Formats: sequence, structure tokens, C-alpha cells
Amino acid sequence: MQYIEEVLQSVKESNPNEPEFYQAVEEVLSSINQVVEGNNEYQQQAILERLVEPERQAIFRVPWLDDNGKVQVNRGFRIEFSSTLGPYKGGLRFHPSVNQSVVKFLGFEQVLKNALTGLPLGGAKGGADFNPKGKSDNEIMRFCQSYMTELYRHIGANTDVPAGDIGVGAREIGYLFGQYKRISNQFEGVLTGKPEIMGGSSLRTEATGYGVAYFLSAMLDAKGDSLRGKRCLVSGAGNVALYLMEKLDQYDAVILSCSDSKGTLYCKDGLDVALVKHLKNEQGAELRDYLNELKDSEFTPVNQYPSDGHHVWRYEADIALPCATQNEITEKDAEALVENGCSVVCEGANMPTTADALKVFKDNDVFLGPSKAANAGGVATSQFEMAQNASMQKWRAEQVDEKLQQVMKSIFDTISATAKQYSNEHDLVLGANIAGFERVADAMLKQGVV
Ligand code: GLU
Repeated sequence: MQYIEEVLQSVKESNPNEPEFYQAVEEVLSSINQVVEGNNEYQQQAILERLVEPERQAIFRVPWLDDNGKVQVNRGFRIEFSSTLGPYKGGLRFHPSVNQSVVKFLGFEQVLKNALTGLPLGGAKGGADFNPKGKSDNEIMRFCQSYMTELYRHIGANTDVPAGDIGVGAREIGYLFGQYKRISNQFEGVLTGKPEIMGGSSLRTEATGYGVAYFLSAMLDAKGDSLRGKRCLVSGAGNVALYLMEKLDQYDAVILSCSDSKGTLYCKDGLDVALVKHLKNEQGAELRDYLNELKDSEFTPVNQYPSDGHHVWRYEADIALPCATQNEITEKDAEALVENGCSVVCEGANMPTTADALKVFKDNDVFLGPSKAANAGGVATSQFEMAQNASMQKWRAEQVDEKLQQVMKSIFDTISATAKQYSNEHDLVLGANIAGFERVADAMLKQGVV
């Protein structure tokens, strides 16, 4: 369609060198053809042009002192993408790969993801090109304090509410919260994912991973199938992967793998998930050090990976669950997965599948749960944390879990009904993009030209 083509062209021209951002926008715009075509108002009101332009972007210097007394400088970001449906909301990522393109793709995805939850949330993302690996606790604290010293002027409990993402967990949120409170003199729900002792919600840590499992189980349910005995390949070993594995284990699935930046851990009879979680929590990050304690497992270091993909996706399995990072499933990986019998993919990481890999899955009828739907349990539980903070309440873990299950089921029902209306009920990528877009676009029309 002409209008969509023109907007895509202009996104490319006005955001050069932002491949991840363009990828995210192209995927969404190319699936909303049918709704945009049938509605002239979207074009008259420049809805697409506004949707792809962040409302506000802060890029700032983050100077901090390392343990040797040397001054270090990183680049900080907060991209407030859309406040159409509620306060800006989305995580902070601390990782050396963070740049404007990455933060913008994450922010754009977050707008639609948050819309799918049905909760009053706008979309944002932020972070820094800071590498937390190998940093002391004091260095992390000083970095977080410096980052917040700039960030605090942009955020607020009803304005913009950051949370964690890769490299930012309860410890970092604790330091960020402490500095915000000190500068602003406000104890308020300005961040989510807080340690429970300072207003964090029960189950926020587990929520993204558990939510992926609930979503996946709704996908299998729709096929008249279940998770029992299903062989699952998981990538990643962070917060999302660990709690997803824990829940899958409870559903009697067989978890064959997980991975970190050093390589892939695999056991053909299924990993001892409780032990992996214990080792990770007790001993820290390195999976390769777990081999002595895990029976019959193997570890493939990164330098033995195929040059055009990832070792974790070369094993036989029924289900693939990418929970590491963006574009971790390449076209070759997708072909290998299909060849090896994988018929279901459910995305725990944000945009883990390249555009070419998505096409391979589509052409081979692989049932794919897209990240903006499947991993929305994290941000949904963040909204529960905001609700608890605003009303000065603390909900029990069972209450939070019940609400989380409801949200994930409702996201699945919404996007599969939308998919059925516009294509076929298994095209959840199309369903998620259309359902998320419609909610945001219709609210934008009602708010006038802002
Ligand atoms: N970073 C998470 C995500 O990608 C959570 C965001 C939040 O809780 O605000 O959705």
C-alpha cells in the first residue's frame, strides 16, 4: 500500500544507521495493511508518521568514578515513545550494545506490547552502553547514581516509570530508586521491579518468564495439545530464561538447553532446572562452570558456534524459546529448527527473530508467539506494582499470579481472534501487530493532533 510504503521510506531516510529500529517498524507496518487501507482517517491524521516518531528523546552523559579513581563516561538514553495510553513505561537496559537504534526499537515495540496488555500504559525504553560485567558493587552503585542524577528530571510516578531489562535487576533498581528519592524528596512508585522491601510487587522478578510459559501453554491449548513431555530449547540464562524454565518444569516439559554469552549448556534427557537455578543464584553467571555438577550435560563454547547462527538452535526439539536478545535466531537457525522438527516458537526476548528467520517460520507453518505478546507479563506486573504503590497496598503472590495468568490468556485470546479476523488464527504476529496498533491508533484519533 502506497501510504505505508511512503512512511517506511521516510523512516529509513530520517533514521539512518538504525537497522534494529527500522526492522521493528517494518515488521509492524507491513502487517497492518488491511486496517490502514480500510480507514482513511489514519492517513489524514498522519497516525503512522506520529506512531514512528518518539514523543521525546533524552540522550545524556553519564560520568562515574571506577574503583581505581579513574573517571569513566557512558552514554545514557531515555526514549519516551508514546503516552497515548498512559504514562511512559518500559525498562532500562545496561549493556555495551545499547545505542539509539536498539533503544528506539525496544521503545517502539514497548508501545504496542503495553497496548496489548489492555492496561493504561504508554511506552518507553532507556538504558546505557555501560557493561555491568566485572564491575564491583560500588561501581554499579556509582553508575546508577550518576545515571539517575540526569534521569530523575524526566520521570515521575504519573509521567514515566522505568523498570529493568538486560543488565538491570532489583539491585540496580534499588540504587536508582535510592538516588531518585534523595534528589526529589519523594518516596513514590517512580520505578518498578523494586526490591519488595521498598514497594516492589510480589512475583515481579518471576513475571516475565512465568508469563511466557502461560502464553505458550495457551498456544498449545489452542492446538488441543499441552506442554507435558515437550522438548524445549531455551536460550539465555537471565531473569526471563530462568523463571520460564522453572514454570515449564512445573508443566512437565523437558528443558534441553539454556545459554549465556560464553556458550550453550545442553542435556539430551533434560536439564535439572532446579539445580541450574540454584547454581546460578549461588555461584553467579557462568554456565560452563556447572558441568561438574550437572550429569550427562555438554557445553558448547561460543567459538564453536556456526558462523551464521547459534549452536543452541541446532538441536532437535519440539519448541524453541529464545530468551537471550534481539536477532538471536537467524535464517539458518530457523531452517535448522524446522528441519529438526520444531513446530512452535515462543519469544521471551524482545525481537529475537530476524526478519528472514520469521519468513522461514511462516513459510513452514511454525506457530510463533511474538515477543510483544508473549513477554508482556513483565510489564503487566509492573503495572500491578504501580497500582499497589498508588493505593499503598501490598498484594499477595497468589493474587498477582492470578492476575498475570488472566492478562496472558486475554492477550492470547485477543491476538488470535484478531489473527482469525484478518488472516488465519495461527498468524499471531499479524494478530499482535494489528490488535496493538488499533488500540493505540484509535486513542490517538480521540486525543487530537498531539
Ligand atoms: N523490560 C521489560 C520489557 O521488555 C519490562 C518493562 C517494564 O516492566 O516496564 O517489557
